[in-house]
Amino acid sequence: MIRPWAIALLLSACSTAPAPEAIRPEAARTLQWHVVDTDFSKGRLGHEQTLTFDDLVKFHGHWCDGLVVGAMGLGETLHTLYPSAPIDRTDLRIISRSSPCLTDVAVMLTGARAQFGTFQVSDTIPGLYLVQRISDGRAFSVALRPGVKPASVDSLGRLAVQQLLSPCGLDSLQAIEERFGKDLLAMDPKEAFIITEIPAFTWPAASGPTFTKTDILNKNAPRCATSTRP
Ligand SMILES: [Zn+2]
Repeated sequence: MIRPWAIALLLSACSTAPAPEAIRPEAARTLQWHVVDTDFSKGRLGHEQTLTFDDLVKFHGHWCDGLVVGAMGLGETLHTLYPSAPIDRTDLRIISRSSPCLTDVAVMLTGARAQFGTFQVSDTIPGLYLVQRISDGRAFSVALRPGVKPASVDSLGRLAVQQLLSPCGLDSLQAIEERFGKDLLAMDPKEAFIITEIPAFTWPAASGPTFTKTDILNKNAPRCATSTRP
């Protein structure tokens, strides 16, 4: 619950709020993930590339603390599933909390998509994400450790969602979120997140129609013996 004095502070904080660019952390530029996909519309597995945090920002539309939370938390979880191999974006499915930032991280890093039955959204899961490797069923949940996120981010965020923050209040919230994002980037993900394996996790049935993801059907097909392609 936000106190009245805090609102007064927000309303008067315009001139002291740091410009977002001024505290945007360079550390985010080092966040990256090695992924593998199929190599064409009916292709085989093996097309490897590196995704960066900047790629995530462009896909999502802006830099924000939620993107940092999702990228670090899910990235660490995927590292648990793929400690020494590229993240296989043809073999993952994920349930994400409904935040616009978290959901965008989920689909980009895992390759999961609602229309193919590999992406679901729920605000009743424990933590931020529940991700499962389809081929062997291993599943993990990831949660932000209590106390890592300042309470003001959520309390002021709720006011903003209700469109109750003044223009200067919005600027102050942006500065608070950017500070939180920077502080989080400076943390060891193992200290900031709790990753828990969920034995025998059963993927819930999709609530709507799903379709065949035709670009992964041949992912394990052998290579043409006479092909000159690498
Ligand atoms: Zn965002």
